[in-house]
Amino acid sequence: MDAWDEDLQELRGEFVQFSRLRLEKMAQRLARCGGAAADRQALDELQRDFHSFAGSGATFGLAQISLRGVEGERICTALFARGTDPDRAEIDRLRSLLELLAADLRAADLTAADPPAEPLVARREQAVLVVETEGPVRRRLAHLLDEAGLTSSFVASQREALASLEEAAPLAVVAAAELPDGSGYELAEEIRGRSGGDHPIILILGSRRGFLDKVEAIRCGADGYFEKRTAVEDLVRRLQRLLAERSAPAGRILAVEDDPQQAAAVRAILESGGFEVHGCDDPRRFEEDLLAVQPDLVLMDIVLPGISGYELARFVRQGEGRATLPVLFLTTEGQLAARLEAVRAGGDDHLVKPVPPELLLSAVTARLNGLLERDGLTRLLTRAAFLERVEAALAEKRRDPRRSMAWVMLDLDRFKSINDSHGHPAGDRVLQAFADLLRRRLRQVDTVGRIGGEEFAVLLEDLSAYEVLRLVDRLREEFRALAHPATDGSTSFYATFSAGISLLSPDGGVNEWREEADRALYAAKAAGRDRVKLAPPAARQPAVRVPERDLRPANHGHDAVPRGAEPRRLLLLLCDQSL
Ligand code: GH3
Ligand code: MG
Ligand code: MG
Ligand code: MG
Repeated sequence: MDAWDEDLQELRGEFVQFSRLRLEKMAQRLARCGGAAADRQALDELQRDFHSFAGSGATFGLAQISLRGVEGERICTALFARGTDPDRAEIDRLRSLLELLAADLRAADLTAADPPAEPLVARREQAVLVVETEGPVRRRLAHLLDEAGLTSSFVASQREALASLEEAAPLAVVAAAELPDGSGYELAEEIRGRSGGDHPIILILGSRRGFLDKVEAIRCGADGYFEKRTAVEDLVRRLQRLLAERSAPAGRILAVEDDPQQAAAVRAILESGGFEVHGCDDPRRFEEDLLAVQPDLVLMDIVLPGISGYELARFVRQGEGRATLPVLFLTTEGQLAARLEAVRAGGDDHLVKPVPPELLLSAVTARLNGLLERDGLTRLLTRAAFLERVEAALAEKRRDPRRSMAWVMLDLDRFKSINDSHGHPAGDRVLQAFADLLRRRLRQVDTVGRIGGEEFAVLLEDLSAYEVLRLVDRLREEFRALAHPATDGSTSFYATFSAGISLLSPDGGVNEWREEADRALYAAKAAGRDRVKLAPPAARQPAVRVPERDLRPANHGHDAVPRGAEPRRLLLLLCDQSL
């Protein structure tokens, strides 16, 4: 169930109540529209009422109501355009729409879902789900989480964890790597595979020291790996940081909407996406609200009492420093058609009511995150956005020099020939599949960009050189095994990539760092492609000569480590970082 479903379910009851009253008024208005002395104002009000049903019904799962609203609005609009009074047939049709609406509302009341068994607040409070069996670790975590002001609940098996996740969606899951009936890794993979499973922060608590666990944790979608004997404090600190980043409002929105039900629905949906929402239900207070709220985006209803949303938007744009403030218009199909010219002229964005919650969230998110930051084909960061993140990461590294950072350059092998043999669209699908793999297998904190046609870059934090190498090599193995359907549909083909990795040296700059990763990539290409190379440590350690090793498995080995080399010794050879 999506986060907004429950809220909308609750609002639906209010919507039905309110709509009953509205229908009574509409019947009175309709009575004033008929006959010789037709009342234009009544017709105008009636049009607004239908408009309101058109825009709201489906939001509460009552699509039929929206359709009746659309029809009523269309009839009224046509009457206005024609400038004559409604004839007998039109009055009859409007009356029958009112009767149908009344019947829809009665039916909606009967089918209203049972209220949730527990009050909403109780379900939301559970912040952290801990899946751990060892008593001392449980007690330590309980204490630290409590100190951090985080509510938590504890279970001791994968099965119990999954049952608990059915009940409520926690903000974070902390799971032991080893569980009596499975593992934290399996659990993470299971959670990430579910709908909405991208959301929780997942941290793994392991008992063995070792890079393999850390890499495995990332591969299955966890956001971090911590050693349970020594790093429980670190885990809680990381959790606090991630939660703080998460809860920072994604943006402030001023929603201008005169219809209270629709305003409540919009608020519930946007708040579920982490936005801070302020409502303005009276256009006369708009200027005041605009100044007080200082929104990042204005969501604007078009049909408002006494003024149109377009006029308000013009006002917004005239204000100092507000020329680029995004305004997203919300309106019904009927209004949109009537104002097509205005829409074209303004070049503004419109969403048609009733807007499906996912669409509203994604439209708002896209405007706020800057659509330009994401590449259209893969939805990864563009080159410019990626480089911007790199700068930000560097600034952070200067504050906390202990953090390690790796730049990984990835380039698809002989991609030109894939295009030549299978066509450009098939090539595009390979690029998308590659991007999906990166998204799925890397952490939420990792930065992933498409920085050229078939060239990608990833910024990884807090991993040693060997861990990065291991992780990227796992990606390499997974990608080369992925079958891509050929255009004829009956056969498939395979693609590979090469990668170069460079660790940021304490005093190096972006350019050096990037060039090192590039050189490592070229070395991987030169050595035959489908392999991962680590850049030699920077000149700061002239004493250490890194042998040019081919990191590709000798045969079908799963390991990027040269055969015969013992991993820990290799690690000392490749980098000066201790695990
Ligand atoms: P190498 O292994 O040396 O990287 O060989 P390559 O063929 O991948 O390298 P090259 O840089 O010569 O060619 C890259 C090709 O990628 C050329 C271009 O047609 C293709 N390409 C770039 N962007 C896109 C895209 O968005 N879609 C598709 N289908 N192909 C693209
Ligand atoms: Mg309105
Ligand atoms: Mg290439
Ligand atoms: Mg290339």
